[in-house]
Amino acid sequence: MKHLRLRVLLPALLLLMQLPLSGQQTGTPEPILHNGLLPPALLRELNITLPKPDGSTPVLDNGKIRAVFGNGNTFCIDELTFMGKSLCSKGSSTVPWHLSCRGPQGEKIDWRPGWAHYTGARSLREGTVSKLVFTWHILYDYSGKTYPVRVIVSLPDEADRLFWDLEADLPEGWFVTKTEFPRLSLRKPDKGKVITTSGWGVENPLTAAEIRSEYPTTTGSMSFFLVHNPEGAFYFGAEDPQGIRKDFYVNGNGALNVRMTIPASEGWTKDGVFHLPFAANIGYDAEGWEHAVNHWYKPYTYTLPWGGEERKIVNRLGTLSPWLQQTDGWIRVKGTDEEFAYTQAAADFFGPHLSVHWYWWHRHPYDSHYPDYLPAKPGFAERIAALHNKGIHITPYINGRLWDPASASYKRDRGYDASARAEDGSLYTEVYGTSKVLNSVTCPSTQIWHDKLYGLVDSLQLLYGVDGVYIDQVGCSRQYPCWNPDHNHPRGGGEFWLQGYQKILRDIRTQGALRPGNILITEENGDCYSDLFDLMLMVNTHYTPGVSRIIPVFPMVYSDRVVTNAYRYFNEDVSLEKACDLRFRFTKALLYGSQPGWVRAFVIMDPKFRPEAQFLRNLMEFRSGIHDIVLGGSFVREFFPEGDNPIRKFDAFWDEHAVMGAQWLDRKGNNAWILVNTDSVPHKVKLPKEAKGKEMTVPADGAVVFRKK
Ligand SMILES: [Zn+2]
Repeated sequence: MKHLRLRVLLPALLLLMQLPLSGQQTGTPEPILHNGLLPPALLRELNITLPKPDGSTPVLDNGKIRAVFGNGNTFCIDELTFMGKSLCSKGSSTVPWHLSCRGPQGEKIDWRPGWAHYTGARSLREGTVSKLVFTWHILYDYSGKTYPVRVIVSLPDEADRLFWDLEADLPEGWFVTKTEFPRLSLRKPDKGKVITTSGWGVENPLTAAEIRSEYPTTTGSMSFFLVHNPEGAFYFGAEDPQGIRKDFYVNGNGALNVRMTIPASEGWTKDGVFHLPFAANIGYDAEGWEHAVNHWYKPYTYTLPWGGEERKIVNRLGTLSPWLQQTDGWIRVKGTDEEFAYTQAAADFFGPHLSVHWYWWHRHPYDSHYPDYLPAKPGFAERIAALHNKGIHITPYINGRLWDPASASYKRDRGYDASARAEDGSLYTEVYGTSKVLNSVTCPSTQIWHDKLYGLVDSLQLLYGVDGVYIDQVGCSRQYPCWNPDHNHPRGGGEFWLQGYQKILRDIRTQGALRPGNILITEENGDCYSDLFDLMLMVNTHYTPGVSRIIPVFPMVYSDRVVTNAYRYFNEDVSLEKACDLRFRFTKALLYGSQPGWVRAFVIMDPKFRPEAQFLRNLMEFRSGIHDIVLGGSFVREFFPEGDNPIRKFDAFWDEHAVMGAQWLDRKGNNAWILVNTDSVPHKVKLPKEAKGKEMTVPADGAVVFRKK
C-alpha cells in the first residue's frame, strides 16, 4: 500500500518541483540548464571565468575495476566494469548528487547538478589510491565568486570496490542540511532481488516500487544493501563508525536506481567547507550475496567500535550475565492476574531455562504516560519474587525514546527541554495503535533524558528486584535530526544520537545502576547499538507474505558477537495463531542462534497448543546442549537438507521444508550442522556435501546436531 502510494505521488511531486525551472508552465520549453553550464551572460556580467570540461576522458582502472566517465559538459558514467561484469550503459547516472543547504537569511535550497556549472574532472594520485575529482560550481550571490561541489571517486590499487566522497564549499553562514549521494542509475539485472538488512535480513523482488532501508532502524540493521540474481550480487554500502542515520533507496524503475540520503549535521560544515564524514562504496561479487557480505561488510565490522574482538561472545563468557547464558527460551506476559497464572504454569512447564519479558507492570495503560511508570501495579514485587523462587528471571519493559507530552513529568521534569526538535521547532510526535495518544521523541544527548533512563533502570532493580531492563525502541527506531539550539550538539543529524545513547547506557552499566549479572535488552538490532546491550529482541523484520522472505544476513555477520532472542512477533489472539507458525518461529530462532519463544504465556499454555509447547520445550532442551555452537560460535549459512523432507505450508510465512538446517562453526571453529524437524513424524535427511552428505534421522518435534572436527 505504501509503495503504491509512493509510486503514484513521486512522479507528480517531481514534476511540481521541476515546473518553475523548466519553463514548462508557460508551454515554452526553455533550455535553462545550458547543458550543465551557468548562463554565459550572467558569468560575463559577474566577470567569472569558468572552464568547460577539456574533452579528455576521465578513467579509473586498477585491473579489477574500470570506471569511465563522460567527457562532455555534463557528468555521466560511460562504463562501470567490475571483474569483467559491465554494470551500466553509456551516459548513465547524470545526477549523482542532490545537496540541501540553508542560508543565513533563512534561504533553503535543494541544489541539483543541472543548476551548477560542471567543469569536468581532474585526476589525483595519493599513495596507492587513484582519484577523480568532479567539480560543479554554484552561484550563491553576485560577488563574483562561485562555490564548488566536489565528487571524489577513489579506486585504491588493490581494491575491489569503488568509493564515493562528497565535499562542497559554501558562502559564510551557509551549511548543508541533507545530502542525497551517490545517486546511481545502473543496468537492471534480470530477475533481480533486493536484500535489505531489515531485522534478520529480507529478500524482496526488484520492481519499479521503491524499497527503503533506513539505518540504524528496524528496516536497516546494517549499513548496506545488495541486489542479486543467479549471476552475482551488486553491493552498496557505507562505512561509518559513528552510527549516523543513512537511508538507502533502491528501485528497478527502468534501470537499477540506487541512492543514499543523509540528514547532515551543521557540524560537518567547517570554515566554509562541507565534508560528508564517510564514503559510500559499491562492488560486484560474482560469487553471490553471501560471499559479498562475508567478504566486505563482515570483516569491516571487526574494526568498528562496537564490533571488535573484545565483543566476541567467546571472549565475554566471564562477564556476560550467567542467567542470560543459560536462557534457552522466553515468554512475554502482561501483568494481569489471569496472565500471571499462565506465567507460573509456563515456568513450571519449561523450567528455569525460560526467562520472562514483562510488559505493562506499570500503573498506567501501555504506551501512555511514558516515562511515568513508577510506582508499579500492586503485587508486582511479590510476583517477581514468586517467579524467582522457580528460578525464572524477569526483565520489565520501559521505552528508551518516548516522552508523552501530556504526562505529569513532561512539565515537571522539563521534558520539553529534552525533546528532539524539528527545524521549525516542533516536536516529533508519534502515535501508536496500542494507546492512540501523543508521544514525543526525546533527544538522547540531553542530561534530562540521561538521568531519567538511569533513574528508571536503577529504581526497577532496587524496588522490585528485576533481573535487568528492556529498553524499547533504541535499536529499532529512527534517529531524528534535532534542531534544538540549546542542546549540546550541532543542529541537524549526525553523530550525537548514537553518542547520546552510548553515554546513557555506558553510565548505567559502569556507575552502578545495572546490578551485577543483570542485563539490558533493546528492540531490534541496529548494529551500532549492539555493544550497549546484552540482548537484542528480534521481532520486527519487515517482510510481506507471498512477496518477500526473511533470510539470515544479520547472523552471518554478528552471530559471534550479538546475543538475540525471538524471531518475529506472535499473534496475540489465540484464535488467530496457527500451530505451524509457532513452530516456524521457534525453529528459525533456534537455527539463527536466537533464544526462541517470546510468545505470550496464555497462547503457548493454551491446551490447543500443547504439542507446540512440547516442541518449544524440546528445542530448549536441545539448545541447552549446544551453547558452544549458538552462544559464541559463528553462523555460516542456512540450508534445507535433501531426502525425506516434504514441503510444508506455514500460513504467516511461506512454504518451507519440514526439516530446516543451519551450518555453524562452534567456539573452537569446528563445523556443526543443526537440523530441526517441525513435523510430528521423524524424517531421514541428507546433510550438504560439506558434511559429506551424511544421512541423519531427525526425531519428530525435535532437533539433532552433527559435529565434525
Ligand atoms: Zn538534541
